[in-house]
Amino acid sequence: MLRRFASNAASSLRAKDASFNAFVSFEDSPDLFKPNEGLLNDFSVGIKDNICTSALPTTCGSAILQDFRSPFDATVVKLLKEAGARIAGKTNCDEFGMGSLNIHSIHGPVVNPFDVDSRRAAGGSSGGSAAAVAAGLCDAALGTDTGGSIRLPASYCGVVGLKPSYGLLSRHGVVSYADSLDTVGVLAQNVQKVEKVFGSINKRDFNDPTSVSERLREKARLIAMERIQRWDTESLEGLRIGVPQEYFPSELNSASSHILSAIRHLLARLRSLGASIVPVSLPSTKYALSAYYVIASAEGSSCLSRYDGIRYGLRVPPSPGSDLTSTSETYAHSRSRGFGSEVKKRILLGTYALGADAFDNYFLQAQRVRQMVRNDFDRVFSITNVLHTENSSEEDVAGPGVNGVDVLIHPSAIRTAPRLDDVLDTLRQRDTLQDYVQDVLTVPASLSGLPALSVPVQNRSKFPASSLPTSTDKGYQQEAEKDEVGDAGWPIGVSIVGQWGTDELVLRVGQVIE
Ligand code: GLN
Repeated sequence: MLRRFASNAASSLRAKDASFNAFVSFEDSPDLFKPNEGLLNDFSVGIKDNICTSALPTTCGSAILQDFRSPFDATVVKLLKEAGARIAGKTNCDEFGMGSLNIHSIHGPVVNPFDVDSRRAAGGSSGGSAAAVAAGLCDAALGTDTGGSIRLPASYCGVVGLKPSYGLLSRHGVVSYADSLDTVGVLAQNVQKVEKVFGSINKRDFNDPTSVSERLREKARLIAMERIQRWDTESLEGLRIGVPQEYFPSELNSASSHILSAIRHLLARLRSLGASIVPVSLPSTKYALSAYYVIASAEGSSCLSRYDGIRYGLRVPPSPGSDLTSTSETYAHSRSRGFGSEVKKRILLGTYALGADAFDNYFLQAQRVRQMVRNDFDRVFSITNVLHTENSSEEDVAGPGVNGVDVLIHPSAIRTAPRLDDVLDTLRQRDTLQDYVQDVLTVPASLSGLPALSVPVQNRSKFPASSLPTSTDKGYQQEAEKDEVGDAGWPIGVSIVGQWGTDELVLRVGQVIE
């Protein structure tokens, strides 16, 4: 009886997902349909397919792991279950999280549920998680964000996406793309749900050596709570919001005037609620994207060396009569057949950046830029970075104090969701620059390990329409009428970025904005 119920639920989810391709596998185990007691009782959660689950395969959108099943659940999945959540299934993603549009997956592209007929990209790499939530197929979804992979699809699909501070959520059982940047995060239709899921899985894990100590978490959390108490959500009096001038780059051109207009309206609203809007400068932002791609590819090339056709996943046996040793031929054939073209490109780029000839000019230089980007943030936040105070004197790391800002606000993306046909065309022409530029506004927070939340400010996901507010702002409608490329009606996300460990503060500001 329970088995039939579970398998009916899975087939109904499969049928609803047919036009989005958000899920790659569905949970139909009756065990998971037993009533649970916990904070997430009745919550169904989609899990990005690069997070290990023992009941369902973990493919990472790659042929090399097409039949891989993990012997254990990732810590975040275990914690979700302990809190009473039901796992709905695994969600589609770019191969190993490498991509911005969810077009690099063996399971095919994800279609943005905001308007299925116009076939727009859902964003990536956690496109399946964003689309599943936007389409109302689950209450929340886990994603991973290495350089923007939660915030970008959240922005394109009109849902809320949190990339927490690096080191808060466990990465044990999360398939590595770039270890110093990979962060597990949460997507849902509103901030409250994101907060609930985040609260249930935000625990120190001794299985993850980068999981931050209780003491440091608590230290940052107390500072955030003290800051929250200074203003009350009704008036925002006392909240200082920084607007970084470098986050309005040339890519945000006239075709994206509706994004600028939405941000202007939002800032005016926040000012009218009593917040101070402070222009700030983060001068190293312009170097962040290049540094990110060098570091992420370098770490990626190293992390992916474990897929050799011997230990995990696809094995292509040596051909008879080959003059290579059978082991090296197995490596070469398994990797050639198993990895997709985007992943191969990153492996080549990363291996080059780590080679003796290029190391100083590329990898080390990118690490210097990473430090400059971090320093930029520390110079504008009123809150000191508690991670840095550990190894330096308070004076060395002191920021601007009361003259600083509590959070930063900027558009999550330089555009709204592009048409799938257009992006697949540019892919065929090997013009992938478009793909990489999508991350220009999200990578600085990733390089610095800061909490960042994308909240829709216009045209949220419409499923189920009744439970969600819609924008009636006249300004948006006027922009929509002016728009010639048909982008103005699409969701726009705004990002709130805070100092390390002040995730609660970021979420609280997100609640006011949504
Ligand atoms: N688009 C970026 C990349 O391909 C970010 C991906 C991510 O955050 N996983 O590296």
